[in-house]
Amino acid sequence: MTVKDRFLKYVSFYTTSDENSETVPSTARQLALGRYLADELAAIGLENAHMDALGYVYGYLPPSPDRAGEDAVGFIAHMDTAPDAPGDKIRPKTVLYAGGDIPLSDTEAIREDTFECLSRYVGQELIVTDGTTLLGADDKAGVAEIVSAVAYLKDHPDVSHRGVAVCFTPDEEIGRGADHFDKAQFPAPFAYTVDGGALGEIEYENFNAASVKVAVKGVNIHPGSAKNKMKNAALLACEFVSRLPAAETPAHTEGYEGFYHLTDLSGCEMNAEVRLIIRDHDREKFEARKAFVETLCEYLNTVYGEGTFTPEIKDSYYNMKEMILPHFHLIEAAEEAMRKAGAQPVTVPIRGGTDGARLSYEGLPCPNLSTGGENFHGVHEFISVQAMETMVDVLVNLAR
Ligand SMILES: [Zn+2]
Repeated sequence: MTVKDRFLKYVSFYTTSDENSETVPSTARQLALGRYLADELAAIGLENAHMDALGYVYGYLPPSPDRAGEDAVGFIAHMDTAPDAPGDKIRPKTVLYAGGDIPLSDTEAIREDTFECLSRYVGQELIVTDGTTLLGADDKAGVAEIVSAVAYLKDHPDVSHRGVAVCFTPDEEIGRGADHFDKAQFPAPFAYTVDGGALGEIEYENFNAASVKVAVKGVNIHPGSAKNKMKNAALLACEFVSRLPAAETPAHTEGYEGFYHLTDLSGCEMNAEVRLIIRDHDREKFEARKAFVETLCEYLNTVYGEGTFTPEIKDSYYNMKEMILPHFHLIEAAEEAMRKAGAQPVTVPIRGGTDGARLSYEGLPCPNLSTGGENFHGVHEFISVQAMETMVDVLVNLAR
């Protein structure tokens, strides 16, 4: 089976995750793909191939006899697709791209002038959607590339390789993919997530992330007799928001620049609530942003009375860079594996997080590699078959 055939098979499974669900996995439909993959890994001949009760799929390819003493390498990808766009009844189409816009339906197209990356794909075979769903290359391309790499190693006993630990997780798109990862089932001291975008990307710097909830308590009195007495919580919440740095939002920042992002604002005269997320690649600046929110609340409390503003700040994840730098051979090995496969490695900072960031802080250093896909989480998502084939070679090279 080719990597393309595997990919087309996997996208036929409906695996959208659901952030409003409390179950593990968040949607039972993910288990169908998990069972299929566990069976496929077992059929390829991996040891310990199974899906656990929480929907995590594991498998292990032992090393070639001459490589028994070496560390195994791990590969991780996620089975769920993003809730941001419909993920059911995906009808993929392949096109041999000759340039110009790619029509998806009567009303949707991947337009050259909007998606500048298209020009790099002239002459390649692309898999696109019918314009009504996402494609699911994020991250079924990663799954297909990993399965194809271990199948290749199994089929080619002449290719000497290290042990390869494999894991496919549910619920990455809702930030829970690392929650129930079981290191005991994964006999590798480091790993790569295969969950990035364009071919060649190697990522080991991500945001430090925190979520903020500010509760605002008001005093309500009949508006006819409220003079000098009413404290309107909704207005105070607006004042808090207006005092955040206006240019430090997602809409005004890029690269390594951090931000405050207002995600929700609600309330009435009595009670209001402001929700923010804070992001910054730099740990010191990240801590300073959290301190700014606390100082702002303290200041506003001196103006409006103690207990008017109560911030609750929770760290979500940290930049994996400090966990990867002591193991920089992982990045160098990935760069070399890419070059040998004919891809140009590029290291880019992620303006988000990955499961690998969480795992890196739990003792499994885990940078992220490209899948070859583009325009994730929407109907314009597509992937090049050649890029997938190259990524299979990259993973095989990393196991060699
Ligand atoms: Zn992903």
